[in-house]
Parts: sequence; C-alpha cells; structure tokens
Amino acid sequence: MFVLELEGAETHFRLQDIKSVTTRLGRTPRRLAFTDGSIFESDDNDGIDRLLPERVGASGRLASAERFHWRLAGIVAVTLLGIVGLFTYGIPAAARFAAFATPPSVTSMIDDSTLYSLDATLAHESSLPAEDRSALRDAFGGFVSAAGLDPSDYTLQFRNIPAVGPNAFALPGGTLVVTDDLVRLMGDEGLVIAVLAHEIGHVEHRHGLRLVYRAFGLSMLVGFITGDFGDLAGTIADQASVLSVLANSRGFETEADASAARLLSAAGYDTADLARALEKLVEHCSGCGEGSFFTSHPGVPERTLAIRGLSKNLDRPKTSD
Ligand SMILES: [Zn+2]
Repeated sequence: MFVLELEGAETHFRLQDIKSVTTRLGRTPRRLAFTDGSIFESDDNDGIDRLLPERVGASGRLASAERFHWRLAGIVAVTLLGIVGLFTYGIPAAARFAAFATPPSVTSMIDDSTLYSLDATLAHESSLPAEDRSALRDAFGGFVSAAGLDPSDYTLQFRNIPAVGPNAFALPGGTLVVTDDLVRLMGDEGLVIAVLAHEIGHVEHRHGLRLVYRAFGLSMLVGFITGDFGDLAGTIADQASVLSVLANSRGFETEADASAARLLSAAGYDTADLARALEKLVEHCSGCGEGSFFTSHPGVPERTLAIRGLSKNLDRPKTSD
C-alpha cells in the first residue's frame, strides 16, 4: 500500500491500481491514470521511475534516446548504401538499357552533331593522299563484310587532328574517325584495320552512348542529393563535350579488344595486329597527354598482353589447319 499526499489529504492505493503512466520526455510532467478513473500528475520524474521501475525500463529516456540514435544511424547507412549502389550498379545498368534502346535515327544524329563540332573545333580535312584513303576504305569494307557485319552500319572518316595525334574514335551511330597521324604511324593496312576493329567493338557495345547516359544519370543523382539542379545543364554540357564523349573507360577497352579479336579472327586477319598497333602507339607516344590515344583508350600496356593471350587462343585453330 502506498500513500499519495495532496494538499494535506491522503489517498491510499496499490501499485496495480495504476492503469497507465506516460513516457518520460524531458521535464514534461508525468501523468498516472488510476483504475478508478482518477488522474495524478507530477514533475517528480525520478520519483515515478523509482516507484515503477518495471514500467519505465524500455520506455525510459536513455533507452528511447539510444534506440533513436541506432535507428537514425541505420537510416543513414541504408541511404548511403543505396546511393553507392545506384552509383555502382543502378546508373550503369540504366545507361546500358537506355543505350541499347536508343533508335538509329538518334545515334546517327549524334554522329552528325559530334562530327560537326569536331570539325568546328579540332579537326581539319585529311591530308592523306586520296588513293591511300580509298585503298583503306576498300580494305575496311572488305574486312567488315568478311567479319559478318553489315557494311552499311559503319562509315569511315579520315581527319587531320593534330591536337589528338595518332588516334581513332567511334561515334555511337557507327561513324569511325581515324586521324592522319594514326594512319601514318601504323604504316600498314592490317594494323589500321586492327585499330578500326577495336573501334567497331566500342560501337557494338554502345560504349559512347552509355558514357553519355551515365554522366546524365550521375548529375541527376547529385541533383537529387544536393537539391541543386542549377549546374545540371552545365555538367551535361561538359560531359557531352567532344573529347569526353570519345574517352572510354578501362572496362570498355577490354570489351572492345575482345570484340576486335573476335572480328579480326572471323575475317581471317591476324588478331595479334591489334597488339602490334598498340605497341607502336606506346613507342611513339610515351609522353602523350590529354587527348592522346592513351587518355581516350586507357590501360594500353595491360591490354597489349591480354590481346596477345586472346590472339593465341583465337588463332590456334587456323594455324593447325
Ligand atoms: Zn578504345
């Protein structure tokens, strides 16, 4: 039996007469409701906790505060994981889907506008002799058909682009741009075809478009996180600038090399030519910077080794004939 003293009057009650007690929250007075309907309010929070320890336990201030912190940390962790997941898997997967869903009318428009801005900024008309260009065009057409591809899907463009040196690019719609410097450095039709086969690999896997869509998805995500879409247009414009559209990632390079090796082998070319072409580029261009073949097609030394491995496997059945 407990005694409650209120303005001199005493009320007797048992613990089980207390129907409910409000949760402790800062200095807010607690409210005890009794089975007979009466209510008792007190700001002696410690006294009430001592009186009803078993009712306080889990709902006590410390416990609930701790639970709140864990919940908050959990929410933050899940959000961070979600963002990392979106960056690593979500955006690339969505970009891949979008790239393969993009109709040819759009990709050929991208080719035209990229070529237009390339010509307006860095590129000049090719200075290669017309007969060299036409011989290479014929050889390229022959290779594409022999590799089992549709020649109308690919267009070869020659340009003199001193800013990028010996280099080649694939545009999403199948336009392949090769620089005069690359043709001169290779000095051999087979080696140029090998580089072009690699560029076809980029087109087959839609690498250029995937990079553009990734950049777009990334700036959207950053916009959602920071709530600032102000620079979105600027970021997309940056990403869509000619050189970054043409720059590939390491993973994409490996994929394009594998495609090139398969196509070269199917067309009866020596797949090791791609490794030889890369070695020539390394020899020529050890100190080349921004815009060079190495920035737009990274990972050259490891790739040369990998291609030699591929060519051993792919060429074996033919040499044993
Ligand atoms: Zn490449």
